[in-house]
Amino acid sequence: MVRYVYDFTEGSRDMAGLLGGKGSNLAEMTRLGLPVPPGFTVTTEACRAFLDTGGAPAGMWGEIAERLTAIETATGRALGQPEDPLLLSVRSGARFSMPGMMETVLDIGLNDESVLGLAKVSGNARFAWDSYRRLVQMFGSTVMGVDSARFEDSLAALKTARGVTDDVHLSADDLAELVGTFKELIHRETGEHFPQSPAEQLHRAVLAVFTSWNGARARLYRRREHIADDLGTAVNVQRMVFGNLGSDSGSGVAFTRDPATGRPGLYGDYLPDAQGEDVVAGIRNTVPLTELERLDPGSYARLRAHMETLERHYRDLCDIEFTIERGTLWMLQTRVGKRTAEAAFAIASALADEGLVTEDEALSRVAGEQLARLMFPRFDTSGTGVPLARGLPASPGAAVGAVVFDSAEAVRRAATGEKVVLVRQETTPDDLPGMIAAQAVVTSRGGKTSHAAVVARGMGKVCVCGAEELAVDTSARRCTTPDGAVVEEGTVVSVDGSAGVVYAGAVPLTDSAVIRFLADGSADEDGEGVVAAVARALGRADAVRRLEVRANADTPEDAARARRFGAQGIGLCRTEHMFLGERRKLVEAMILAPDESARERALAALLPLQRRDFTGILEAMDGLPVTIRLIDPPLHEFLPDRTELAVRLAAAEARGVEPGPHDTELLDAVNRMHEENPMLGLRGVRLGLVVPGLVAMQVRAIAEAVVERTRAGGSPRAEIMVPLVGAVEELRIEREEVERVLAEVSRESGVPVHCPVGTMIELPRAALTAGRVAAEAEFFSFGTNDLTQTTWGFSRDDVEAAFFSAYLDKGIFATSPFETLDRDGVGRLVRIAVEEGRAARPGLKIGVCGEHGGDPDSVHFFHAAGLDYVSCSPFRVPVARLEAGRAAL
Ligand code: ADP
Ligand code: MG
Ligand code: MG
Repeated sequence: MVRYVYDFTEGSRDMAGLLGGKGSNLAEMTRLGLPVPPGFTVTTEACRAFLDTGGAPAGMWGEIAERLTAIETATGRALGQPEDPLLLSVRSGARFSMPGMMETVLDIGLNDESVLGLAKVSGNARFAWDSYRRLVQMFGSTVMGVDSARFEDSLAALKTARGVTDDVHLSADDLAELVGTFKELIHRETGEHFPQSPAEQLHRAVLAVFTSWNGARARLYRRREHIADDLGTAVNVQRMVFGNLGSDSGSGVAFTRDPATGRPGLYGDYLPDAQGEDVVAGIRNTVPLTELERLDPGSYARLRAHMETLERHYRDLCDIEFTIERGTLWMLQTRVGKRTAEAAFAIASALADEGLVTEDEALSRVAGEQLARLMFPRFDTSGTGVPLARGLPASPGAAVGAVVFDSAEAVRRAATGEKVVLVRQETTPDDLPGMIAAQAVVTSRGGKTSHAAVVARGMGKVCVCGAEELAVDTSARRCTTPDGAVVEEGTVVSVDGSAGVVYAGAVPLTDSAVIRFLADGSADEDGEGVVAAVARALGRADAVRRLEVRANADTPEDAARARRFGAQGIGLCRTEHMFLGERRKLVEAMILAPDESARERALAALLPLQRRDFTGILEAMDGLPVTIRLIDPPLHEFLPDRTELAVRLAAAEARGVEPGPHDTELLDAVNRMHEENPMLGLRGVRLGLVVPGLVAMQVRAIAEAVVERTRAGGSPRAEIMVPLVGAVEELRIEREEVERVLAEVSRESGVPVHCPVGTMIELPRAALTAGRVAAEAEFFSFGTNDLTQTTWGFSRDDVEAAFFSAYLDKGIFATSPFETLDRDGVGRLVRIAVEEGRAARPGLKIGVCGEHGGDPDSVHFFHAAGLDYVSCSPFRVPVARLEAGRAAL
């Protein structure tokens, strides 16, 4: 028999798939003996069944009724009983936390009759009516679909009419009047009355939570966070406890450590006389938790103790939601908390110091993307930065952009490529598209646990919140500062999420502490904690990883930088840029050469230049392997653009100027070499096979550079890599030429030159015939950019802008296969090539040099597929080291 409902006493944290994150953690807290109001969880399985069929699965309502009766018996109160009614909260809670993206309805069970009972039994009519108006408001918007702004407007109008700014100053009569207004609003908008039956309220709220799984903002959030669309949400039904019973009650949010910096110590926001949703919504300004210590030392001490229990139990930073009802503390939620990149490293290191986690676990707690974030530049405020406003450093980083005041404008401008900063009084889940589009988010209200702060931290987006000096006037599209500065929409500002400061204008950027440390080992004071934590994680990763990490570098400077970042060699040294700039003329001369001797002269002029390039790179990477790829792009890429040239000639003709013989010749060559589909044309190994002398020149330059470095006392380790091979025959012929030149230079110089010759695997045919290719290849390197293009039949430059966002929307893939390796298709080819290549040539060295080499998910795949190394851009080298370590855990 399938069960759809579990009591909190029956679940545990490892049931998150079935009970959702919130439900499984409520169960875990219940098991730990923490004060959790009784309740039960309707499973994600029930939700999936509902979403599939449009109806609740058989038996679900019966199980709910049964659980409810148990709570009624335990509490001695019944749902809907007119005196002292049982009230319930109905809360969404999916497997992965989606803050504020789905629905919650509080105070279920109130109606025109039981509100009077509640007033009587609590001795607090104001509280009873406040709870009722909350129910009507939440139920009206969430379940009955009335725009939530309409309720807010009525509430605001009443406050204005009564001359108060805060809802705690509305009287019981005011709130009773508001309930009436809300009920009329619902009737007007939906033609339906607010349901008086508590059972109906409960049933409809449960179904509304199920339905909210497919709400627009929940879908958008899932796409952005790569959460699967078919998981469904659980629903938690729980007895209400009341934070809105007066000044000895309240609600709050707390973290066991500072989620922005990782510093230890209780950290959070508290709001007296409030139900929990007020805290996150930023409706009133909260007070720091230290204030609770003053207001209610007993509850504060218990909160501390519970949080310590939770952190030791989960062995990680936890965040919690709690409510105090007349001096009694209740725990309403916990989870392993989201945190900034800086905090992730600091906390992992601190927990290892405290002996709560091992070094390996500490490594598993940090991610390559977080390290990448710490390598981003930050503001150089030593000079001119003029602070416009200060707020709370809610999510770190540096961002510059034009101010916009609503989500739609953010999206509109970002679509044209403009960088924008979204400025709001506070954000709501409806602002999600704008938050995604913006570089940074600034709010004038709310604490570090407000919606803006939590969501921005989760996305790694820069955020300053609670910048109270900013008076934000959304409808006038401007904000003002106390000293009279006016910031109109479109004004450029700089947002420092690490310091919590907004500057006027674009502040210049400088290296972060982590980048400085990675580049030269220096650690300055403000960055010391995080620098030490990063060094520790990288040290552990280096100790446990099997994959080597190399860099893609084409210049001595890049090679040197990559080496400082920990690269163990160069996996891809492209040679084509060596034909650009002033050398273009020489390449042109080679292409246009009328006869062999002219071509030889042109190649001879290129030779010393190439040799110098290689010498510099081999010197920078002395003692480490340098894989040099022979020329890859089609030669016409080095000639002028066909249209441009034709236009130039036509213009000259119009002016009556005869085109020079060189131009005519050039146009002929350009026309002759034009390709409809250059990606699949005369390039890669094909060039070497049909353009005489080109490969010989390149190999000679490499070999002579090796000789030079050897004579200088170095240990050059050049490897020669042949691109775009599809058939072993291509490689065999090209390789003979390479070996011939290597032998020639060895003979001439008297210095033996040994360079392993290998190939890129970047065509499906090469992967599928890898066993044969391996006979001629001393190493393989997967060129996963081309391999992805040729496997999918995607021309990267054409498809990404044209339709990838539509493909992502339709769920054809969750991330672009050019960002994260497509394991099923391209990955299958990789596995085949590894297996058959090594079968033919045991111990064959295999790496990857496409951009996937620096992508965390792809690195894990390459580890599992048995590669020897990944190669990526120098700035991704630390990221790849970290992820290669994590992959080996
Ligand atoms: P979210 O997932 O958006 O945080 P929750 O389900 O946690 O939504 O509900 C929002 C708030 O409602 C909680 O922070 C809590 O303060 C309040 N709440 C939920 N359940 C109860 C309850 N049983 N008693 C009192 N307040 C509750
Ligand atoms: Mg919550
Ligand atoms: Mg390629």
